Amino acid sequence: MTPNDPIVDRDGPRDECGVFGIYAPESDVARLAYFALYALQHRGQESAGIATSEGPRIMVQRDVGLVQQVFDEAGLQALAGEVAIGHVRYSTTGSSAWENGQPIHRADRHELALAHNGNLINAVALHTELREQGVTFRSTSDSEIIAALLSTHPADTVEDALADVMPRLEGAFSTVVMTNESVIAFRDGAGLRPLSLGQVGERYCVASETCALDIIGAKFLRDVQPGEMISIGARGIETRQIVNAPRRAFCVFEHIYFARPDSLLEGNRTQVSRRKMGEILWRQAPVDADVVIAIPDSGNAAAAGYSKASGIPKDDGLIKNRYVARTFIQPGQELRKQGLRLKFNPMPEVVAGKRIVVVDDSIVRGNTTRQIVSMLRHAGAAEIHMRISAPPIRYPCHYGIDMSTSEEMVAHGRTVEEIRDELGCDSLAYISLEGVYEAIRAGRDTHCDACFTGEYPLEHSDRAGGKFSIEELAVIPT
Ligand code: SF4
Repeated sequence: MTPNDPIVDRDGPRDECGVFGIYAPESDVARLAYFALYALQHRGQESAGIATSEGPRIMVQRDVGLVQQVFDEAGLQALAGEVAIGHVRYSTTGSSAWENGQPIHRADRHELALAHNGNLINAVALHTELREQGVTFRSTSDSEIIAALLSTHPADTVEDALADVMPRLEGAFSTVVMTNESVIAFRDGAGLRPLSLGQVGERYCVASETCALDIIGAKFLRDVQPGEMISIGARGIETRQIVNAPRRAFCVFEHIYFARPDSLLEGNRTQVSRRKMGEILWRQAPVDADVVIAIPDSGNAAAAGYSKASGIPKDDGLIKNRYVARTFIQPGQELRKQGLRLKFNPMPEVVAGKRIVVVDDSIVRGNTTRQIVSMLRHAGAAEIHMRISAPPIRYPCHYGIDMSTSEEMVAHGRTVEEIRDELGCDSLAYISLEGVYEAIRAGRDTHCDACFTGEYPLEHSDRAGGKFSIEELAVIPT
């Protein structure tokens, strides 16, 4: 860890975004969107926003910060309407500046608001094409490109515009768009990111994860299908299959890490899949030890599975401060040197003199893991055996997850033994990719696992620009 690394960031991949949309004229749609976003907070903590429509006008409230920081009672009451969409954001294209918050509002030919989870591979090409047509942008996110393509489109309806635009979008997009009378949800042909359809009373809603349906009392109906557009309005649901992609490629990392444990992904309760991964990890990498501990909270489920399968008792060897936010004041060099335990503190009574198995769900850069190993040694652990319920991450994600560049990944260009040496533990083992698929009862042919294998499921993935690709065009007035 360098002195400038934020000490509070966890070592896993950064979350992405969460979206929600609802049509319910008789309900307080802004409040429903607020609670849904609250449930999706784990998918993005940089900014939050809600758009509603009252009559012909679309109103948007958004700001940097957590959902509960961005909205208050008065703000929610001001968001009247029959339709709402919402968004929580972790930036994957575009910086985290205010302008890049969502929902994005445009009123070129069609007035609409849009919230997007994913990443467009052809963002730079589409952005260039639109600018050449005289379209201007207020943000540097790839999401505004989709909004601009729809808002400027000559078709009579946004649905017809989308039918024309969707085949031109390359990459990952689970997206909700609202007009003043409907919500339109659509998902890329490979179905990279999740999007679920729910029913609340007689009305319908969509959300990135089913945990957001649960919180507002909505019943989960089904996933929005890859390549499908669903329009939700006064006539109920209307659906059209717009894109038929050659293959599906749902992100396998959603099962391992991103989704909340209580969400359903492809028919699997995520918590159950992660426990199963822990059991398989024991089968694949057993070790003689006295106690299993999780890196909380990310490793909890897999640690429970490892403990159950091995018979080695699980205990709380690391205590986590749950109130450390990403925006926390950085501690400075002096406190770092003293080994500031801002986020995790080891329990000497659990680990001293013991051979411990430490379970986590993934390692990206390795800094936090190295720190934790060192803390546990200082707390007296006799042996430290790391067990990871994801395969080694060696390649970047082009589909909406902000991972470090390959060079920053501890597994890049290293064998497992070399990684173990870097981390300073006594042994290190990762679950195999086959083990992950066994746990989720699915196969590689319908999933993306490119960050583990380097095999990208979409053509032209290498053309994806970096996080700041639109900023680099240097055409946005600041
Ligand atoms: S590269 Fe990894 S994180 Fe990105 S979509 Fe594929 S499996 Fe998910």
